[in-house]
Amino acid sequence: MTSVSRILVTGAGGFIGHHLVRKLKRDGAWVRGVDLKYPEFEATAADEFEILDLRRWSDCLRATRGGIDQVYNLAADMGGIGYITSYLADIFRNNILINTHMLEASRVNGVKRFLFSSSACVYPSFLQKNADVTPLKEADAIPADPEPGYGWEKLATEELCRYYRKDYGFETRVVRFHNVYGPLGTYEGGKEKSPAALCRKVALARDGDVVEIWGDGKQTRSYMYVDDCVEGLRRLMASDCHEALNMGTDRLVTIDQLLGIISGLAGKKLRIQHDLTKPQGVRGRNSDNTMIRERLGWEPSTPLEDGLRTTYLWIESELRKAGRLPAPQVKDAIA
Ligand code: NAD
Repeated sequence: MTSVSRILVTGAGGFIGHHLVRKLKRDGAWVRGVDLKYPEFEATAADEFEILDLRRWSDCLRATRGGIDQVYNLAADMGGIGYITSYLADIFRNNILINTHMLEASRVNGVKRFLFSSSACVYPSFLQKNADVTPLKEADAIPADPEPGYGWEKLATEELCRYYRKDYGFETRVVRFHNVYGPLGTYEGGKEKSPAALCRKVALARDGDVVEIWGDGKQTRSYMYVDDCVEGLRRLMASDCHEALNMGTDRLVTIDQLLGIISGLAGKKLRIQHDLTKPQGVRGRNSDNTMIRERLGWEPSTPLEDGLRTTYLWIESELRKAGRLPAPQVKDAIA
């Protein structure tokens, strides 16, 4: 690890950003967090937290002022599959403004290293047509056919990071996350991702109830626990890897299996109803971890069952706090 101490996290009011700030503080760094909003579920651990709109150039200059060494640029307009397929123009415009302004402001203000959070949504749809998908290697992103809106913007900003390195010698790192989940993340309202949505549905369901799943449930994904994600971010930032890097697990599960794991943890027998009118995204997506093993000597390893248990218990406790579930009985507790 480098001896850097002054760190800016954008999107620090969001899911991954909030966890990252906590980790950086535990590791002894000085941290400034920036977002449009404060973290939703607990107070930030950041030394400074500023409410700024990073679509604006002046706000990006402000965020990067005062001798920041490293920037983790996590701010983005994003959500689950329903959200990112509904607002293509807004998402592309908002994110390209955040990322182009943040890159340039960081360079102008003398930031030493800039990490951009990209996504597995950059991978071409023509490689993701089967549930039994071949894991995606970093080089597969080109020729391009990414997710409309969100994925095209991520790919464009990946390229811009490359150009900044080539033209200005500016040190950039690019991570392609594959489905991150864990506690303290959005679990309802339309921006939640599948693990959080399914945990909420299972928590609110009674034994024997019907739970709705988007699509036919045979679509596949891999999932990374948020503690692995923030550990990986630290390792990537400290590394000499400036090519885009997958960060995810390579354990492929169907959405039906994901629901099965969660309902098993909750000790509930549920019936599934598939809604074929809802968006399901690509048919299958998995991460090839050859490059991350080579470049970082590490890969995410939290077993899905362990991460989902923590996530489920947290969402269940939030629903209880909100009075939407009765107080726990001893027999309800998950071992
Ligand atoms: P999140 O939505 O919880 O956090 C993003 C944060 O960015 C939010 O708090 C939001 O308020 C903030 N933001 C949006 N517009 C802003 C603006 N104009 N100015 C300042 N802040 C703004 O999302 P997350 O899951 O924590 O994702 C973090 C990053 O990782 C994003 O770049 C996302 O695209 C990427 N990513 C996440 C996943 C995942 O599974 N969570 C997968 C792939 C990529």
